[in-house]
Amino acid sequence: MDAKHLGDELSVVLHTEAELHARLAELAREIEADYADEPPLLVGVLKGAVMVMADLARELRFHAQMDWMAVSSYGAGTKSSGVVKILKDLDSDITDRDVLIVEDIIDSGLTLHWLKENLESRGARSVRICTMLRKPDAMKVDLEVAYNGFDIPVDFVVGYGLDYAEDYRNLRDVAILAPHVYGGEG
Ligand code: 5GP
Ligand code: MG
Ligand code: MG
Repeated sequence: MDAKHLGDELSVVLHTEAELHARLAELAREIEADYADEPPLLVGVLKGAVMVMADLARELRFHAQMDWMAVSSYGAGTKSSGVVKILKDLDSDITDRDVLIVEDIIDSGLTLHWLKENLESRGARSVRICTMLRKPDAMKVDLEVAYNGFDIPVDFVVGYGLDYAEDYRNLRDVAILAPHVYGGEG
């Protein structure tokens, strides 16, 4: 669905589907150049990264094997704690493989910081990160992001895989959710 199908549920569209796709094509060219010797294993983080993975993988002009993990932050609240529980692990052995983590968004960075170390500890040859969105002003850890789609403000965004209470993942664009939807001011 498009933003126009959602009435007043969104306050602003940050990036349209066309912008997301164009940026992913640029990132794909960089990834192809950086992994010219051997394609990386793409590891998507469920569920948010499904759309990024689908579009990035098809944009890449070499074999793109995909695997998936599902993780959740321990502890109460909506904020990442940095302590992560694996809900679904990889199917593949990543020993000596180049791994490219594919993510929807980096907020505090705590989840990916943990995940990168976890994958490195399994003997991967390299572990890099590709994310569609990043909130630089929310980052709590020093995290190297090799491929970043767009930097966005510290607002709660939905769409292109990102949910609010499991809704909005199938919105084509990335948008800031209107505060009245989640009971906030505004
Ligand atoms: P981090 O560990 O970087 O703080 O958290 C990353 C995860 O929090 C993302 O993978 C995503 O699930 C969730 N998240 C962070 N910011 C947002 C946001 O603006 N919108 C949505 N829908 N999820 C977010
Ligand atoms: Mg995610
Ligand atoms: Mg979520």
